[in-house]
Amino acid sequence: MKTNSRTPEDKQAGRRLFIGGLLSSALLAVGVRSEARLLSSPVTTNRLRPPGAVTENIFLGTCIRCGRCVEVCPYHCIIPLDSRHGVHAGTPLIFAETIPCYLCMKCVEVCPTGTLRPVKQEATRMGLAVVNRHLCYTWQSQTLCRTCYNICPFTDKAIRLDELRPVVNEKECTGCGICVHACPITAEDGSKAINIEPLYSRVQMS
Ligand code: SF4
Ligand code: SF4
Ligand code: SF4
Repeated sequence: MKTNSRTPEDKQAGRRLFIGGLLSSALLAVGVRSEARLLSSPVTTNRLRPPGAVTENIFLGTCIRCGRCVEVCPYHCIIPLDSRHGVHAGTPLIFAETIPCYLCMKCVEVCPTGTLRPVKQEATRMGLAVVNRHLCYTWQSQTLCRTCYNICPFTDKAIRLDELRPVVNEKECTGCGICVHACPITAEDGSKAINIEPLYSRVQMS
């Protein structure tokens, strides 16, 4: 007859091993996630490199984190990333919904490494504004809002009205984010009814 030879002490040790294994797996998963975060690019929706930036895959290798672009920006829209951003710490990022880029082009003039390349104001391509038609009051026919259209520095070029609804022209939009900052609608996740999707290599050289 088969008997269960495991003592209560054996069972307790087994439980400890099992729980230890679970904890190790969880810690490993957290570690992998944090490592990925430390390495992954901070550039995403409404998180943009300054005008004229080289493509994101070489940005880390060319930017020396001197902070000159940060210092020269009269609008304080360029933030140097902190140590939580791992290998990207010290590199410049614009948070479009907080303070957009007003296209004064001072940062590209002072960058000593060519990470921010000379580019004309209207040829800047930091990203592309995209209207969220599910959130936009005008597209939802809730009220007539023309804020993004009115505030865009390139009205009727970068953004126009189609039956009074805002439509972005991807060939002309600079991705400056002025429309994002001005948009009165903020969703629960912090996004606006118009957002900038970064385009890593749309910069057109002057
Ligand atoms: S172009 Fe002017 S406003 Fe825009 S990030 Fe550079 S310094 Fe700031
Ligand atoms: S000025 Fe150029 S090199 Fe210096 S932090 Fe800004 S992007 Fe990097
Ligand atoms: S549509 Fe928005 S992001 Fe594009 S140029 Fe006009 S204000 Fe700037």
